[in-house]
Amino acid sequence: MSRRIVVDDDLCLLAGECVYNHPEYFAWNDDESAVLVVKPDIVTEADETHASQAIPICPGGAISIVED
Ligand code: SF4
Repeated sequence: MSRRIVVDDDLCLLAGECVYNHPEYFAWNDDESAVLVVKPDIVTEADETHASQAIPICPGGAISIVED
């Protein structure tokens, strides 16, 4: 089973908190109209920490972890 970070574009408010606080994991797309998860796979403890910190600071509730 793998776990990864996802952003729901319908919920994202483009507030940028995730990009500002966790730039290794989140980035703007070219025209800053959406957020991309540039490091989605949760493998290391650091990945786990960044994901768990990003989820509660997202004002849109757009960030979550999915398990495949
Ligand atoms: S913190 Fe949440 S609402 Fe803000 S840009 Fe990131 S995903 Fe979108």
